[in-house]
Amino acid sequence: MVQLLVWLIGLCIFLLLIFDPPLGLLILWNILIPVAPALLVVAAGLWRNICPLATTVLLPRHLNLSNKKKMSPLLQSKLQLVAIIALYLIVPVRHALFNTNGMATAALLTVAAVTGILMGFRYDWKSGWCSSLCPVHPVEKLYGSRIIASLPNAHCDRCVKCSVPCPDTTPGFHPAITRKNSYQTWSGLLTIGGLPGFIWGWFQVPDHTGATSLTLLLDAYAYPFFGFLGSLLLFVLLKRLIGQQQERVLISFFAAAGVSCYYWFRIPALLGFNHLEKDGLLLDMRGVLPEWSILSMTILSTLFFFWWLVFRKSGHRSWVLRPVYV
Ligand code: SF4
Repeated sequence: MVQLLVWLIGLCIFLLLIFDPPLGLLILWNILIPVAPALLVVAAGLWRNICPLATTVLLPRHLNLSNKKKMSPLLQSKLQLVAIIALYLIVPVRHALFNTNGMATAALLTVAAVTGILMGFRYDWKSGWCSSLCPVHPVEKLYGSRIIASLPNAHCDRCVKCSVPCPDTTPGFHPAITRKNSYQTWSGLLTIGGLPGFIWGWFQVPDHTGATSLTLLLDAYAYPFFGFLGSLLLFVLLKRLIGQQQERVLISFFAAAGVSCYYWFRIPALLGFNHLEKDGLLLDMRGVLPEWSILSMTILSTLFFFWWLVFRKSGHRSWVLRPVYV
């Protein structure tokens, strides 16, 4: 029921992006997306169960229209690398285009949905999109390693081992858990090392309205790219310094840094305290809330994410429970 409800909400947002772009953009970028990182940290399985795009692309499998082909682990590794590169290529375009253009955002979602559905017609369960090509999947893997509880699986009724290892049902899954080939090694490295700096850089760029030019696009890529490069180099350096045994702690630290950095900028922006004027505004609380309350919220959110992801003692849990094997 929740899956259906969220799918209908997703459909409404999609239609609003076309017929009432300001409202659609506000709900998508300033309500739905800001909730997502915290949800992934606390209950990644809940998002995996109710994501409206997942519900759409898994329809062929639910309706038994899929060829149920088994994807090879090598192809899956390649597609996972494509997913993280796609994330880094698509997200900067939000400033130049998607944040302010409902039609373009609807077109982006359509391309994602059509690609996912086509993959769903060919490959079994989540291997075609949710655990391979989806550009949000690398973020799920980075943030979702210490979730609060394993939920029942609301998609796969029988496990066919479509993804090996399965990110949904492997306890304590993180981006560097598998390094059997260079594609997996690279996608893990780019996700863990690059994301915190990329997020920092992304928040330094203002939204543009009007026509998108090549200069605007280059501007939108510059800060995120240099941030990405900086944190990636730092991660590689620290990894060498601390050695293999402490690597897991370092990964958690970078995950906490990424999500904390996101809310460090996102919370002030949502409430009208953005250093970049009205970008990302949900409710203008300037004059209502004192400046120190915003700073307190950002510090508290940072403390929370570091405690949750780095210091809290947590059991090794999977996002969802594995259904019985076929
Ligand atoms: S639980 Fe099994 S069928 Fe479902 S996504 Fe994981 S590996 Fe695939």
